[in-house]
Amino acid sequence: MKKGRLPSEIRDLIDYSLSKRSRVHRLPSAPQGRFWIKREDELSSGISGSKLRKYASLIPALKRKGVEMVGMIGGPNSNNLVGLAQLLKENSIEPVAFIRKAADPILRGNALLLDMLLPAERIRNIARADWQNAETIAKNYLEKLPREKGGGELLLEGCFGFDALPGAMSMAEDIVRNEKESETEYETIYVDCGTGLTAIGLILGLDVLSRHTQAPTRREIVVTLIAETQERFQSKLAELRSALSSMLGYRILPKVRIRYLLSIVAPKFGAVNRTLFQSCREISRDEGLLMDPTYSVKHFVTARDDFAKNRENSNSLFIFNGSPLGIAGFQDRLADPDL
Ligand SMILES: *Cc1c(COP(=O)(O)O)cnc(C)c1O
Repeated sequence: MKKGRLPSEIRDLIDYSLSKRSRVHRLPSAPQGRFWIKREDELSSGISGSKLRKYASLIPALKRKGVEMVGMIGGPNSNNLVGLAQLLKENSIEPVAFIRKAADPILRGNALLLDMLLPAERIRNIARADWQNAETIAKNYLEKLPREKGGGELLLEGCFGFDALPGAMSMAEDIVRNEKESETEYETIYVDCGTGLTAIGLILGLDVLSRHTQAPTRREIVVTLIAETQERFQSKLAELRSALSSMLGYRILPKVRIRYLLSIVAPKFGAVNRTLFQSCREISRDEGLLMDPTYSVKHFVTARDDFAKNRENSNSLFIFNGSPLGIAGFQDRLADPDL
């Protein structure tokens, strides 16, 4: 076993040409400070970074199973649908998107990109009133579609599931590599949470990497809850921890501490307001970072606030999962001269 590497049972499930290295640098406005940024956004130009890590084990799993068609579920502005559609097509797997019907009839942002990627008959709109039955509707639809030989598979929203976990865990390996290179130990790591898989992968990845140390580590993972409650996150974490432990044949014990934050701006998932858009513009000017309002801007203002109040004396790492693609959906609001 190599130090700083996940066990081979996990590594073998990951396509490392997708889950690549990403760099870290200090916050541009505080070049001597202890707030570092991990540039997961740079992993791909068209797929948000955290998503690409998940796909790095999900796509190989779909190929192993001989899946020919994949149903994917999400909101009209989903980064996941746009990202996954690109990689599925690259791998000759046909995507069918089941989308919650948009309140906004104009095609913009990710809704436009998805419309460009898929033919009309592969985009199924589901009325808001029926959204709670989206999985059943999608399953029934997929079963009726003709296929050549392989099976169809329905993925949950945000690709939540065990197949995407190994890829998500690979970020932990890359952070340990960053620490060696920058000769800095990140005591606090700020990560955002939609379905939670990215954050869970990070936590379990770090737990696995420190499985031979006896005591809990000093490390603290701070999860910004964008689209999930603390209770549901904790139960998903427990569920995947136990699935991972059975796969490996030994128990993966908790080694990192976890703390939870709610966004300090527009905390409801999908909610936007003037402060959020102003922050989005400020971060671009002050830091040179183009962040999507839905996740990254909320995560950034929340993490920076926590760091200033509680963690200024320890090295902290902010995970920038985003891609600036999410900005396009809010172009009019951001361009408003009265903002
Ligand atoms: C999808 C996404 C997330 C959430 O990832 P989960 O694994 O679903 O928690 C966070 N940040 C950005 C920028 C995303 O696109």
